[in-house]
Amino acid sequence: MRRLAVFIASSHGNDPAYAGLAADVGAELARRGIGLVYGGGRSGLMGVVADSALKAGGEVIGVMPRSMIDREWAHHELTELHICETMHERKALMAEHADAFAALPGGLGTLEEIFEVWSWRQLGLHAKPVGLLDFGGFWTPLVDALRGITDAGFLPAATLDDLAVEPDLAALLTALDERVTGTAEPAHGPSFNQLRTSADVPDSTV
Ligand code: AMP
Repeated sequence: MRRLAVFIASSHGNDPAYAGLAADVGAELARRGIGLVYGGGRSGLMGVVADSALKAGGEVIGVMPRSMIDREWAHHELTELHICETMHERKALMAEHADAFAALPGGLGTLEEIFEVWSWRQLGLHAKPVGLLDFGGFWTPLVDALRGITDAGFLPAATLDDLAVEPDLAALLTALDERVTGTAEPAHGPSFNQLRTSADVPDSTV
């Protein structure tokens, strides 16, 4: 795996342990030579994971819509900051740059991002593995809810099993590697690139 996309909170949460986790993950990715792809923000745990990876000499690629940059939410010391126009383009660009996806503790933005790439994988739009870093059991209630959805017959057990859920980064990276498949299944919908709603609008890098 060359690059991991990390979805993570733009706030700090109520427990300083979350910032400790974000710092550990940033440093460990750099140590392993795995580039960090993330939303490009400087606030909350997003800023912590990016700062930590940079400090340890790692590659950090941010992707952010211009409207967020105008609001001064961007981190300006990154290896690369890709500027796009919409949130849809942002997620598609992050997905293109990464080889796998992981959600660390976060809120609505984090949930929305990880569910989208997981559902894209279910549809066969890409073959990149998806997982949750279940730090301190943070995601366990969510996984329980997902099991209920499987029991109700709406989420195939194979799809749920395909989501890597591990308590620490080392175990999660191993589980993601195990889920690397050669190619995406034949797509039922638009190709991966077509998901970029304005593929004809080149992103700019600063
Ligand atoms: P949340 O989990 O609700 O804090 O949202 C975090 C996710 O949403 C991140 O992975 C970002 O892609 C996006 N996001 C939300 N707020 C911000 C922000 N202030 N700066 C950059 N990205 C943000």
